[in-house]
Amino acid sequence: MSDTPAPSAAALPPGADPALAGYGIDTVALHAGRHPERFHGVVNPPVYHASTFIFETVEQLIDTRHERAGGAFEQFTYGREGTPTTRALEDAVSTLEGGYRAVVTSCGLGAIAASLTAFLSAGDHLLIIDSVYGPARAFCDEFLIRFGVEVTYFDPLIGAGIRELFQPNTKVVYLESPCSLTFEVVDVPAIAAACRERGITTIMDNTWASPLCFRPLDHGVDVSLHAATKYISGHSDLMLGIAVCTEPAFIPVKKTASGSGYCGGPDDVYMALRGLRTLPIRMKRHQETATHVARWLQQRPEVARVMYPALSDDPGHALWKRDFHGASGLFGAVLQPCSPAQLAAMLDHMELFRMGYSWGGYESLVVPTWPATLRTATEWKDPGPALRLHAGLEDPDDLIRDLEKGFARLAAAA
Ligand SMILES: *Cc1c(COP(=O)(O)O)cnc(C)c1O
Repeated sequence: MSDTPAPSAAALPPGADPALAGYGIDTVALHAGRHPERFHGVVNPPVYHASTFIFETVEQLIDTRHERAGGAFEQFTYGREGTPTTRALEDAVSTLEGGYRAVVTSCGLGAIAASLTAFLSAGDHLLIIDSVYGPARAFCDEFLIRFGVEVTYFDPLIGAGIRELFQPNTKVVYLESPCSLTFEVVDVPAIAAACRERGITTIMDNTWASPLCFRPLDHGVDVSLHAATKYISGHSDLMLGIAVCTEPAFIPVKKTASGSGYCGGPDDVYMALRGLRTLPIRMKRHQETATHVARWLQQRPEVARVMYPALSDDPGHALWKRDFHGASGLFGAVLQPCSPAQLAAMLDHMELFRMGYSWGGYESLVVPTWPATLRTATEWKDPGPALRLHAGLEDPDDLIRDLEKGFARLAAAA
């Protein structure tokens, strides 16, 4: 079985911009949210630097107040609620994921906080995946519980078994797939279906897949969010988030994001939109290189196992193949047990895989991870330290040579 699936044939969902109906997802990624006719024919929408929108008449001003109160948020009223630049990015990503509308936020964590607080109140119960992105866990443990929300973590492999954890006050189930740091694939459709039966809102962090490789709303999820900081922007130079919503989820998320002050800055929004246009070609290269590097790592004696669902022998491969249209460049490797000095000898001197807490940009990155310290509902048993690697757009063989030299330093430090 080949590691690399055929390019996605996902077609545009019903309800999206009719001018794009019938086109493949790569074409949609290039054209969604673009309206040159509104901007003198300019290909990209301009950057609107705006706090203030002028109303010509009292009637117009009152009309936008009514519209906003009714929850439409169609007209532009104030910079915090978005500008035409913001709307272009929201429309583009929402179209790609088959959403009703999307909400841009100041960063990925802003999208997480806005989505959770949109649906949770004091006395409600939140079920959250045990392998969630660390700062999302901290937001729940340090903030949500202070406001009277009950938080329970669950096993990423629980599937439809999630039903047994439902309580009468369960309001939200929060997912991320593949798992942060450990890359297990979650049975999103099974969990979302169980939630639908009970009217529980599902929120999913879809950053790993980008809007091109997984479409959560097709699988029953209500809110799909991204750190646009990562793949969508693609150049490691901005912070931004976006939450793609179904129609019923849109108003609560929009009201919470703007009511909590999570708006994105105009230049960041513009650059994210610019990044989006090259996302299809970048994602293919990230996947190809990650597959190449991951296969090489599997042969190395220093590596206990590689965690990347695009590999045909990965435990999550079947689910990934069933639900995803491709993979990104982020994956994990568990090393054979080694000393902290050996790990430092390898990582302190990497030339291309530099250490940094991010990914999704054009450059390769690595960080050591300790998955056991970020779990409470499940146990992480691998004795060796783990690495999280981001395969960037460099020549794949240069990346392999960088790792090869790193392993030589690791061995020499024994
Ligand atoms: C980076 C990241 C976030 C947070 O995004 P920021 O823009 O850094 O706030 C959320 N989820 C995942 C999976 C991430 O990697």
